[in-house]
Formats: sequence, C-alpha cells, structure tokens
Amino acid sequence: MVQKLSEAPAAGTKTAITVAYGDGIGPEIMTATLRILEAAGAQIEPHVIEIGERVYARGHTAGIEPSAWDSLRSTKVFLKAPITTPQGGGFKSLNVTIRKGLGLYANVRPCRSYSPFVATKHPVMDVVIVRENEEDLYAGIEHRQTDEVYQCLKLISRPGTEKVVRYAFEYAKANGRKKVTCFTKDNIMKLTDGLFHKVFEEVAADYPDIENEHWIVDIGAAKLADTPEAFDVVVLPNLYGDILSDVAAQIAGSVGLAGSANIGEHGAMFEAIHGSAPRRAGQDVANPSGLLLGAVMMLVHIGQGDVAERVHNAWLRTLEDGVHTYDIFKEGVSRERVGTSAFADAVIARLGEVPERLERVSYAAREPFALPQPAARPEAEKRLVGVDVFVAWRDAERNPEVLAERLRSAAGEVPLAMITNRGVKVWPEGLPETFCTDHWRCRFLVPEGQTLTHQTVASLLGRLADEGLDFIKTEHLYTFDGEPGYSLGQGQ
Ligand code: NAD
Repeated sequence: MVQKLSEAPAAGTKTAITVAYGDGIGPEIMTATLRILEAAGAQIEPHVIEIGERVYARGHTAGIEPSAWDSLRSTKVFLKAPITTPQGGGFKSLNVTIRKGLGLYANVRPCRSYSPFVATKHPVMDVVIVRENEEDLYAGIEHRQTDEVYQCLKLISRPGTEKVVRYAFEYAKANGRKKVTCFTKDNIMKLTDGLFHKVFEEVAADYPDIENEHWIVDIGAAKLADTPEAFDVVVLPNLYGDILSDVAAQIAGSVGLAGSANIGEHGAMFEAIHGSAPRRAGQDVANPSGLLLGAVMMLVHIGQGDVAERVHNAWLRTLEDGVHTYDIFKEGVSRERVGTSAFADAVIARLGEVPERLERVSYAAREPFALPQPAARPEAEKRLVGVDVFVAWRDAERNPEVLAERLRSAAGEVPLAMITNRGVKVWPEGLPETFCTDHWRCRFLVPEGQTLTHQTVASLLGRLADEGLDFIKTEHLYTFDGEPGYSLGQGQ
C-alpha cells in the first residue's frame, strides 16, 4: 500500500498553501519569494496566518493562534518565514509545536557550495542532510534523580527510524542521488543507535541501486567537515542531525542561502534555515535566497516541479551573474550589490534562463514521491527476567560492599547480580579507584530459564523500602524472542 504525500493540482486549479510572513526580515523575504513564485507561474493560493512576536505578545505561549491550525490542517503545506523567539521563560518553541502538531518526522537540508561565486573552502560540496526530527534525546523527558545526578531519556523507535530512513532513500531515488550514508554511535549505544543502524541496513536492502554506508558519528562528522565531497545524502538521528546540519550549512559557506523542508504525515513545512535577523529588518537588504530555496522544495513537494526548476535555475543564473546581496557580496567576484527586492527582480528577469557554469537543476519530470507503508511485523515474545533498581544512596564512605549487603538482605528470592555507578561496575569485584556518585544501578536477575512476575518485582521493592533504601527508578529487564533487551555489561 502506498501513502501519497501530496498530489499535483489538476490543470487550472491552484494548490492552497499556508503562508506566514514572520518577524524581522521575514516580511521582506517572504514578499520577494512570493513575487518570484508568481512570476514563474506557480499555481498556488496562499492563505496567510500570523505567527511570532505579536502572537506571543497576545498571550499565546507557542506563538501561534488556535485558528491558524485550521489553515495548516486544511492546506497541509506551510511556507514559513523566520520569527523572533521571545527571550525569557514561559514561551514554547513555535517550531517544536508545529513539528509535533504536523508529525514532521524528517528535516531535509540541502547544503551546497556555489564556488567560485560564493566563497567556500569546499568548492564541490553538495550534501543533503536528512535529520530524524521527533525522537532521540529531544523527546524532552528529563529528571533530576538524586542530589547529584540528572538524566535525559534517549528514545529511538523502529517505526520512527524506518520512516526517516525510508524517506532518505526515496529522496535519493527521486533526486538522482547515488549514495545514502548513516551516522550513529552504535559501538557505544548498542540498543538505541544499534536499532537506527539495523533499520538503516534493512531499508537499504530495498534500494539496491543506491549505495549505502555507515560511519561512527565522530569520525563521520570529522570527515564531513573535512571532505564533504565524499558524501551525498546523510541520514542521522535527531541530535547528531541537529549539530551536523548546521556544520554542513556553515562549511558550504552559505548559511544565508540554505532552505529546508520538514516532512510529516499530516503536512510539510518549508523555510530558510536562518533566523529573523532583527538588525537587518525593514532595510530591504536581506537575502531572500534561503526562503526561496525552501519554496523550491515546496513546489516539488506539491507536484509543480516544472515551476521549481524554472525558479531554481533562474536563481543560480542570478548568483552566477554576480548579482549579490550584501551577505555574499565580494569585490572582484560580485558585479552588482542589490537589496532584497532588486534581487527578486533580478531572478524574475532571468526566469527561463539556466546557469552556464553552475550545474543546472532538473525537477520538471519529478513526481511527488510516495512512502511505502512499513510491512506488518509479528510482535516479539517478551519475557521479564530481571529488574534494574536505581537507588539514591550516600554514606560517608560510599562503599559498594555496604550497599550490596543491604540490598542482598532485602533481595529474597531475586538474586542481586551487579551494582554499577554511572555505568561502571562497582560490585562484585569493583575497583577501589572508581569515583562514585550518589546514584547506583542495582541489577536483580533471575537464573537462566526462569521468569519474574510484576508481583515479585513489587514485593522486592516493598522489601527495599522496608530496608530504608531510596529507590528512584526501576527498569524492567526483558528478553525479546530470547535476546536481551538491555545492555549487558558496564559502560565504556
Ligand atoms: P539569524 O539567522 O537571524 O542571524 C544571524 C546572522 O546572519 C546575522 O548577522 C544576520 O544579519 C545574518 N542573516 C541572517 N539571515 C540573513 C539573510 N537572509 N540575509 C542577510 N543576512 C542574514 O540568527 P540570530 O541573530 O541568532 O537570531 C535572530 C532571531 O531569529 C532570534 O529571535 C532567533 O530565535 C530567531 N530564529 C528563528 C528561526 C526560525 O524561525 N526558524 C531560526 C533561527 C533563529
């Protein structure tokens, strides 16, 4: 079964899109962008909503009014100018709110250099970063557990990973890309990043014509920063993607030129990657290119690849002709220094032209691509074999033998298998040199072949409470089809 992301409009009909002019330079760059789209023949019908500073000031903590959601839900396509995020507490991020509301699971950011017309250390860079957008450490589940220790939960799901990885391969296929690279840290995070890597390999097998490779994120990031021409499409979990998409845009030499797409199940959002640049607002100097390239991705998404191609090629030709806004203007390379509206005029004047030295783009034959639904998977057989009880404990010595003695006297029929402190085993056979905090992970594990019940765990906790131990969290240890669903050893 195939899920249609978007449909091309029937001849003569216009596609409704939601548009927000944003704050700072937003209104100027949005006006310029829409003027270029209209001149290029885009069949769009903008529905304008208000977001940002003034909406926050009216008391809406996420910078968007409830009525704006009606437009987003009905058009499912959002072209958004940057907003100014208010300082201070009590405000929610508009981008996070929209990402959650529309289920935007993939953030797509093409990072390309335009040498020799825009200065860059990497003249042949052309990388697309596809960042998972909903999971990982960004689930926002954090706790202070003891006096000394805080935690943030890293959540990676199979369906979440599958969607974003499949999107990366479908994007590569639709855009004639040759290779998809995955970055994880699965040598350390064997279960969470291990799942992302595993799903990447499973999905890659469905795309035999596209090369695939995996790098450990540390060396992969170093290689990306040093030799970006070695990469094509890169798909990453949320945190690594957040960091590396900024690195990639920066080293392309063109933060002000990059657009991005946020693709979701209930809609899609297109924007520039830069902010509202308040100091430049109202002066007709800002570069509208980032938003314009976001709008080009939007046109492809709604099935107007021919218009996208006309706009993008005219824009490349404008860059090549040396018509530059202040941020990329360089004596000796640039020919004419222009403001926002004159830059838009220059692009409009070149509609129908193609670049002569930069590679021209081609989207005309592009179908909006579809994401296949994941195949149904049988549920694994799950068995409860133990429990990690996290205990807050501090005495003068912090001697694990003392804690182990108290735990064992309360353990009853569930044997204590090990104690770790920040992941390092301290009992049995710990090293006296290990630095210990007040946060202890105490693992109780039944012998091979036996199964625990929730009642046994509950009575174990009751006995620990009677012993006066402050347990602050428990994690059940399950096997799934016989495979341990928990990390086995000590941290590295
Ligand atoms: P910024 O991206 O607005 O500006 C960084 C620098 O780049 C400034 O020197 C600015 O003048 C320049 N610049 C940015 N866009 C430009 C353009 N199109 N043309 C020419 N020069 C440009 O980042 P900032 O100053 O850190 O943030 C300003 C505001 O934007 C903050 O309130 C921030 O929270 C917000 N912001 C919003 C978004 C968004 O809405 N998606 C993204 C990032 C930042």
